[in-house]
Amino acid sequence: MEERLNQAPFGYLVMDLEGKVVEMNLEMKRIWGRGEMPEHIHEMLTTASRVYFQTYFLPAVTLHKRVTEMSLMIKSERGPIPVLMNSIERNGFFECAMIEMTIRGEYEKELLLAKKQAEKINQESAEANARLQKLLAEVEAKQLELEKLNGGLKQQADTDALTGLKNRRYLEKEMDNLLGRAKEGLPLTTLIIDIDYFKKVNDTYGHHTGDLVLQELAGKLKEEAEAFGIVARLGGEEFFIVLPGFEQDQALNLAEQIRRRVEMDEWAHTPITVSIGMASFSEKDDEVTLYTRADEALYASKKGGRNRVTAL
Ligand code: GH3
Ligand code: MG
Ligand code: MG
Repeated sequence: MEERLNQAPFGYLVMDLEGKVVEMNLEMKRIWGRGEMPEHIHEMLTTASRVYFQTYFLPAVTLHKRVTEMSLMIKSERGPIPVLMNSIERNGFFECAMIEMTIRGEYEKELLLAKKQAEKINQESAEANARLQKLLAEVEAKQLELEKLNGGLKQQADTDALTGLKNRRYLEKEMDNLLGRAKEGLPLTTLIIDIDYFKKVNDTYGHHTGDLVLQELAGKLKEEAEAFGIVARLGGEEFFIVLPGFEQDQALNLAEQIRRRVEMDEWAHTPITVSIGMASFSEKDDEVTLYTRADEALYASKKGGRNRVTAL
């Protein structure tokens, strides 16, 4: 073999048409790595490469007289070594040039590994994201629950437990606002409603029945006045109705209607009557004077024989 070819930086191998190896240059021997030259090309190839060689190389080379970029695995002493082979048929021999592809193979392996890792990280971050979304949804649900709970607590704080009407606390809060509007000219009338001889109801039927009567009255007051303003229980058997926008005459009609309904209605346990004191806002009023006048009016109703409405 010509020395240049012998020293060439690629593997050079000559075989006959049956695949018997005739010649190898130094680089080919280095790739092959074993001391003796193989007798047949088959000896040099891994099983998979041998199958590939038989099914592809011979038909292709017969047809085109050459084969290019054929990827094979050499069963070298160092282990399987990937090579890229070009081959031509010339003068009854196959001349093959082979380039070791180990570095590229390693590179490809690393690339594949990196790709797999990237996919894994991608999947992990998608999973983490899904977990985060789930947590966020849970937080949101908890927040809603809390808001609902807070709403419930607020409602509880403003409500009289026995009757479900607004309580004194709520009333005091709202009165500030309503008095402010009254000072700007919006009419405002308040009613205090007190059950007549309620002690007798308790004494005769018991405290529990007394409670049921309070609840029943609360229901009726709500029906009559809640659409117009605030209906509250101040405590005991005393109720308070605030009617924003109501002048005295208008309020007097409603108060009389309430009084009459209580007197005439069917009652589940015992019939009752109520006395009502009424006061409408005037310029000099504040919350205390307005309440005091209503209370004085109530006292007048009691004194006047009960089951009546007095306006002051
Ligand atoms: P008057 O016509 O002068 O208003 O007579 P009265 O008996 O209604 O008046 P008084 O204020 O002397 O009595 C009110 C009674 O209401 C006293 C108390 O036993 C009763 N009472 C107060 N709070 C409650 C309650 O929550 N439930 C029941 N069942 N009774 C209550
Ligand atoms: Mg009473
Ligand atoms: Mg009372």
